[in-house]
Amino acid sequence: MTDYRETLHDNYGQFFEVEKMLHEVRTEHQHLVIFQNPRMGRVMALDGAIQTTEADEFIYHEMLTHVPILAHGTARNILIIGGGDGGMLREVCRHSSVDRITMVEIDQAVVDMCKEYLPNHSSGAYDDPRVNLVIDDGMRFIANCTDKFDVIISDCPDPTGPGEVLFSEDFYHACHRCLTDDGILVAQNGTPFLQIDEVKTTAKNIQGLFADWHFYHAAVPTYIGGSMTFAWAAKNRQLRQLPLDILRQRFAGSGIVTRYYNAEIHQAAFALPQYVLQAIGKPSND
Ligand code: SAM
Repeated sequence: MTDYRETLHDNYGQFFEVEKMLHEVRTEHQHLVIFQNPRMGRVMALDGAIQTTEADEFIYHEMLTHVPILAHGTARNILIIGGGDGGMLREVCRHSSVDRITMVEIDQAVVDMCKEYLPNHSSGAYDDPRVNLVIDDGMRFIANCTDKFDVIISDCPDPTGPGEVLFSEDFYHACHRCLTDDGILVAQNGTPFLQIDEVKTTAKNIQGLFADWHFYHAAVPTYIGGSMTFAWAAKNRQLRQLPLDILRQRFAGSGIVTRYYNAEIHQAAFALPQYVLQAIGKPSND
């Protein structure tokens, strides 16, 4: 039995027993691996970094979709950048109130191979008539986009290779331009215990640009290093501070049954620890 060793970090990492190698290819953009692991189920990695596993993907995908969509309250038009495994799309499609979903993924091979080997991630979401899948660089798409979105979800890999541009100042400026008046941008931002520079860089890029900016977090076991942070950048200050009873009403009203997200988790996720507040230069979680 061979092992898959994640190479995201030097001198520290995780390994997965490879029960069965399902697919491996060097695509036009990155090195794609999908394999079966006895504990985490099917696992997908890109360029040596774990992207998603069947066992814990629900935590990540529920937190990057239901938090902004339920906080917004009347989101109709959603943009997903990245997300080739299809999990983010699946969770957005569960909101019957959403009219249109655009997903911009740079690598067709990731979409195709995840449909085949990780079918439970997309779970048929690509066939939803509200979905428009665009194969393109998310930066090129948003730079030329004339549409306006209520929620933009950057489901990007780490800021290396094709994903690097999705952490740039230009990217956040373009997202700001393509958000409606109450629009919200959320973005995967790494595990601060090991990748503190990601939140520092993002904080510099979004403060001053968005009326309200912060981060929220959730522990996703296979994103090693403790809690993963998600950037929050909103044009409306109120949306991050909604009372718990409103969040509870909206969650109940959505009719969505989750395995991780609930209104209390939503509210508590924005309470960041001191070392992260210090890294982003905020005196408190206000
Ligand atoms: N949850 C993962 C994480 O936290 O690292 C991200 C998962 S998702 C698979 C990342 C996706 O972003 C991949 O499908 C990759 O092909 C896509 N991607 C990378 N760079 C991109 C770009 N510039 N534009 C659009 N998609 C991109």
